[in-house]
Formats: sequence, C-alpha cells, structure tokens
Amino acid sequence: MAYITRKIFLEARNCMRKAWLMARDLKNGVQEELSEHQEFLIGSGGRIKELAAGNFPGGVLVEGTNAAAAAETTRELIKNGAAEVIFDASFINGHMAARPDIIRRRENGGWEIIDVKNSPYSRGGARKPRGRSGKYFTEAAFNLMVMRECGIKISGVSAMYVSRRYRLGMGASGMFTTLECSAEAEKLVKSFEKYRESIREALSSSEIPKASMTTICKNCDYYKSCPVSEIKDPVFLFNSINQKTFARMIDDGYLSISDIPDGYFKYPADGLYYMMRESVKTGKPFIGPGFRKNLRSVKWPVYYLDFESLASVLPVYETSSPYEHLPVQYSIHLKDSPSTAPENIRHCEYIAGPGRDSRRELFETLLENIGSSGSIIVYSDFEKLCIKRAAERYPSLRDRLNAMLPRIFDLCGFMRENYYHPDFNGAYSIKKTLPVLVPSMSYSGLAVQNGADAIVKHYNLAAGNLTPAECERLKKELSDYCALDTMAMVKLHESLLEIAGNLS
Ligand code: SF4
Repeated sequence: MAYITRKIFLEARNCMRKAWLMARDLKNGVQEELSEHQEFLIGSGGRIKELAAGNFPGGVLVEGTNAAAAAETTRELIKNGAAEVIFDASFINGHMAARPDIIRRRENGGWEIIDVKNSPYSRGGARKPRGRSGKYFTEAAFNLMVMRECGIKISGVSAMYVSRRYRLGMGASGMFTTLECSAEAEKLVKSFEKYRESIREALSSSEIPKASMTTICKNCDYYKSCPVSEIKDPVFLFNSINQKTFARMIDDGYLSISDIPDGYFKYPADGLYYMMRESVKTGKPFIGPGFRKNLRSVKWPVYYLDFESLASVLPVYETSSPYEHLPVQYSIHLKDSPSTAPENIRHCEYIAGPGRDSRRELFETLLENIGSSGSIIVYSDFEKLCIKRAAERYPSLRDRLNAMLPRIFDLCGFMRENYYHPDFNGAYSIKKTLPVLVPSMSYSGLAVQNGADAIVKHYNLAAGNLTPAECERLKKELSDYCALDTMAMVKLHESLLEIAGNLS
C-alpha cells in the first residue's frame, strides 16, 4: 500500500473504498492522458507555488517524488539548522505522509506551516473569507497532524491566497494575501482524530471496503468497476442535490430513482427531482404544465448568443485581475421566424485578437450585431452576467447593454423547469441534451470540444506568443466550436417547439 497522503485521507471521509483503491493503484481507472485544460491547471498551480516561494528568499527546495528519501533530506535540513524556510518538505509517520508547500522556522524554534492556495482571496484587505469554515484549511490541518506526530514543534499555520487585487507587474510580494488559520486547523485536527484510526485500519486492510453510494460516485474514477455502477438510474444522478436530501434517501433505502415512492417529491416545490423521478418511472420525457406557455414568450427574430471566456490565475492583461472571467468571443445565429429556411439563418461572431484587452470592442460589436428587438436565446446565465458586468464597466454602453437583459431567454433554465428526458441522465449541459433531442448533431471531430478547451486556446491567443499562422488556426478552431454551440441552440429550440406543437 502507498502512503496515506492528504488527498487519500480526505477522500476516505467521502468514500473509504475509493481511498483504499487510490492508496493501492493511483492509476487504476484514472484518466491516463491529461486534457489540455488539466495540464493548464497543473501548470498554473506550479507557477503559483513558484511565485509564492519568491516571497521567501533563501528557502531550500526538497526535490524528488520519493517521499521516504525526501523525508530523510527534510530531517537533515531541520536537524542541522541549514534552512530557515523549506519548500516541499516531507514528513512520514507510519502510514501517513505529508508534504507541506512551505514551512518556516519561527524565533521560538517552532515551525510555521504555510499552505499555498491556488484559489482567490475574495475582497482583499483584512477581511477574512465569508463563511470561513474549516473546509478551507483541511490541507493545512492534515500537514499539522502529521508533522506534530513526527515530533515537530508547530508555531502557527497560515494559508497564502492569490489576491484579487493583484495586477500584472506588481511582483510576487503583491500577489498574495496571507491568513493566519491556526485555530481552524487545530479544530480540524481534533475532528480528524475521530476517524483517523478507522481510516488507517480500513486502508491497511487487505479487504476492499464495501461500496456505499455517495454524491461523489457520479464523478468517481473507479465507478465503472464499482458495484454501485450496477444500480440503474442511481439517485446520485439528481443534479446538485443537497447532502441532507441525499442522506435521507439513502437512509430510506432508495438507491435507484425508481425505488422512490409516489408522493416523495412534490411538484413544483421539488421541481427537477419530481420531473426526473416521473420520467424514470414512466420511461418517457416529463413535460411540465408551463412548457408551451413559457416557450411562447420567445419573440421573433431570435438571436442565439453564446460567449466564450478566458480565466486564469495569473491575469493576462494589465486591466484584468486573477481568476476574472473575461468574455473574449461570441457567436450569434440569427433566425427571423420559425419558418426561416436553414440557408437563411445568418451568423456573425467576434474573437479577440492576441495581446490586448478587447472587451470593450467585443461589447461594441455585439451591440451592432444583436438588433433592438426579438429574443436573445442563451444556454446558461453566464451571458447575462457578462452583459451586466460590462454595463457597469462601460458607462457609455450601459443603457444599450441593459436594454438587452429583458430580451434574454435561457433555454437551459427553461428546460430545467419544464422538461426532462430519461436519457439526459441527470445532466442539462448542451453536450448532454443535444444528442438526445437532436441526434443528427455532434461535437465530434472539433479541435475544441468544450469550454475548458476554449479557455486554454484563448489563453494562448491572448498571451501573444504565437505566429500569425498559429493565431489563424486557433481562431478558426474557436470559431467552429462557438458557432456549433449557437447552431445547437437553434436546433434545440426547434426540437422543443416541435414538442410543444405536438402537445394536445
Ligand atoms: S463509485 Fe462511489 S462507492 Fe464506488 S468507489 Fe467511487 S465513490 Fe466509492
């Protein structure tokens, strides 16, 4: 068995079976090849750690992935007093292994644990994150527990967050906000003690723990080989279900949606859950009573609009902040009436060029393209949010941008309230609903497969390091993808109108 690392320990609290499998074979069932976006995130995380280290000149890095060898190096560094700050130190106690991002020697001879967070610190300044609960500091708490068990005196625990106030050119010192979190970490260590021994016992046993359904089963890397996968229409398909409702269903013995008795959910109070249960039970789509009336509120001509955005930990422009979602592309398909022939559906788009913040230009062009009447169909609430933010940011465009808002009709939101097909399998993303309602359309063969891929391509484009030919290729790939998104909306809308037309 491998060491019980922070990741495995914390996962064991969700599912002991999954943690047991992780501790034995990290590759079993795990996607072997990382997507471009996963690599992008890992690269960003590594860069953040490097920048954080820049705040501690003279710190010593413990290299290597072999935990035992790294622990030996760490022991020497601590014993001979050669380092005041250590990056990636390694500590092993029995089965438990910790690798804190940074540890710093304090005047009293103890060590401060510093956890580098690849996430934003909201609202900057001295305020603490709202709802500051222990869940933010579980990683630091695990390191605290293992280091203390190794006999290391701990003098404090803190977390370094990327500050949203950071701007390009500020240097590493302006990039982070550090929060003291000793009290939260100590509290968590106490809570860990309750199940620490049972985790150790279960994970060191040769017997694989029993499968027990949880909300994480849906995205578990071991799902295919787990007995849970034999349950048809499992209740974890309920989208964004809260833990309390989920726990109640499991306690009541309902593992499959079809086990749930009549009257368990009410309509419309339990909206989506009710629709899903009805649909699974009957094997037919559920169509809500407001389906036809709500769909009729769409006014022609219809503009089908989709934005793509760019978001990265490190801002790409002088005017942007870490993690800010920057709209960088849109596609519009325009259909004048329900009977407009496919060849008469018009298309226009905008794609930001390399190396400069083009947001204002994007919204100015959008205002030229979007007309002044007719509905604007989108497939998420993201477009509305971007338009609202742009209205705040550009006062001279405010009135015209705000005038777009009442025209917006969210097709996804409409479906979530009025329609469920048993083949949706609990998901309403356009990639899931399109193949069910419009089987003739598909994203296969596109160089950009999803929004995450688009983010990476836009990041590369914005960075401005590509040749003109590479820029053109990326723009073409992004154009194909975003245009398919809006054409998918056209076809989904047509399909829903057809369903409405067939209702008695
Ligand atoms: S599918 Fe669910 S029960 Fe099975 S290992 Fe994964 S999380 Fe655990």
